[in-house]
Amino acid sequence: MKLSEPTCPPGNQSLANRALKRKLPGRLLEDEPNRFRASLDNLRLSFLPEAVIRVREAADVATVLQLANRYGIPVTSRGAGSSATGSAVPIKGGWVLDLSALNTVKIDPVARIATVGAGVVTADLQAQVEAQGLFFPPDPSSKKYSTIGGNIACNAGGMRCVKYGVTRDYVLGLEGFLVDGSAFQFGLPLKKYVSGLNLRDLLIGSEGTLGVITSANLKLIPKPEKRWTGMFAFKTEASALKTVVALFKAGFSPSILEFLDRQSVACAEQYTGSAIFPGRARSAILLIELDGRAAEVREQRKSLLAFMEDRTIGQREARTEAQAEKFWQVRRTCSQSMFSLADTKLNEDIVVPLEKQAELIRYTLDLKKEIGLATPTFGHAGDGNLHVHIMYNRASKSEAKKAKAGIHQLMRKVVDLGGVITGEHGIGLAKAPFLSMQHSTSEIAAMQAVKNALDPLGILNPGKIFDAFEVWDHEPVDVCLPWDHR
Ligand SMILES: Cc1cc2nc3c(=O)[nH]c(=O)nc-3n(C[C@H](O)[C@H](O)[C@H](O)COP(=O)(O)OP(=O)(O)OC[C@H]3O[C@@H](n4cnc5c(N)ncnc54)[C@H](O)[C@@H]3O)c2cc1C
Repeated sequence: MKLSEPTCPPGNQSLANRALKRKLPGRLLEDEPNRFRASLDNLRLSFLPEAVIRVREAADVATVLQLANRYGIPVTSRGAGSSATGSAVPIKGGWVLDLSALNTVKIDPVARIATVGAGVVTADLQAQVEAQGLFFPPDPSSKKYSTIGGNIACNAGGMRCVKYGVTRDYVLGLEGFLVDGSAFQFGLPLKKYVSGLNLRDLLIGSEGTLGVITSANLKLIPKPEKRWTGMFAFKTEASALKTVVALFKAGFSPSILEFLDRQSVACAEQYTGSAIFPGRARSAILLIELDGRAAEVREQRKSLLAFMEDRTIGQREARTEAQAEKFWQVRRTCSQSMFSLADTKLNEDIVVPLEKQAELIRYTLDLKKEIGLATPTFGHAGDGNLHVHIMYNRASKSEAKKAKAGIHQLMRKVVDLGGVITGEHGIGLAKAPFLSMQHSTSEIAAMQAVKNALDPLGILNPGKIFDAFEVWDHEPVDVCLPWDHR
């Protein structure tokens, strides 16, 4: 089944812009800096939109979509533009709908539900909720920037998903607009809701291709009383990853369980100029957080340290919050420090069954030898969700060719291991070439049928998920984004 292509007959864009200015004065931004900012996300490919529309209130979205329908204008919703896959890039031009000003937060501490605008920044919501003794766990590493609308549209994950689940697990209701500008309310601020087909869950993770979300009702839970962080060194990646399986078998329930391979550790050590386990040879690492009631955490810590005793070649525990923060800083440094290996990074977010992680890591090490490019890997080992990177220098045609071949091989391997090509970033543009590795023709046709039913003109975030797109054919822009630590 084919998707409709948005058709914007020549001249329609300027008619649409004029109509929008009349209906929503002051919302349309046509200047170069604003268009450029909205032209890219963290994939760093830039496609200029015709204009950016800064939404002030939810009702603006209805007006925008009615006009977009009338004139056949593509509409790409945007939160913070931190997407890793190009999903926020307006590759067909048209309008970018900037939803970041929809930033109201209302907390019901009795029902433990927050009703938030799509533009609320994740970390801001977490701070407000925690001030009331509550907790909103989904925590993408981009949380200081990413918006709730973006998180829902990508079904974002993060480090605490291993215990608490992903964004989807906290969405009770969604409000927004269908492509024709009609309002929807899928779900309510209620704990239980099974009326009709569950289109709420269809919208979650649909990358802005099925509707525009303007607000959400989010489930909150009590804030854990106590947290403890430990860092464990292993001789090999395989021994660390086998320990992950053993931990679950033994009944541990960590709130964070992160893995760093030796390539990542070497980069982080070089970047910071200090050894992570002073006096020890470079090792693979597990970073573990336990949380819960204070007595429970004390008990778990004791058992964990005993459990790890014979398995590790080094253990460190954080005695203070500041020390714990230093441990997490090691993990955060990994991403940036890899640029010492090469100037370009392919960042994948694959998932494999927990027992297959050791095999996957062996494969990345074999791949490193085969293609002669570094493959540093770290990630959410408690979920089987690893960020495998292939580092190459963009100016070198032969390295770029090897990196491209390497990614295709890696994706094939992931699917063969019973895994999935993306666990949190979504498909966007970057993963589109691999969609048919993961899904059968009829599965893809079913997805396209849904897209066609909800967006018959194909104007909502066109070109994403289903269209053939090769990131390699496009030169990334050299730009410093808010989350770059340069
Ligand atoms: C440094 C860094 C670390 C990251 N770490 C993680 C991580 O740990 N876990 C993780 O899951 N992701 C991570 N990401 C990816 C990214 O931050 C998340 O996908 C995030 O949820 C995107 O939010 P955003 O507001 O930036 O959305 P945008 O990038 O603006 O948009 C993302 C997608 O959502 C759509 N969209 C946005 N708002 C709406 C709306 N209101 N209605 C409908 N569609 C909408 C867009 O059209 C686009 O398809 C990371 C990115 C960076 C740069």
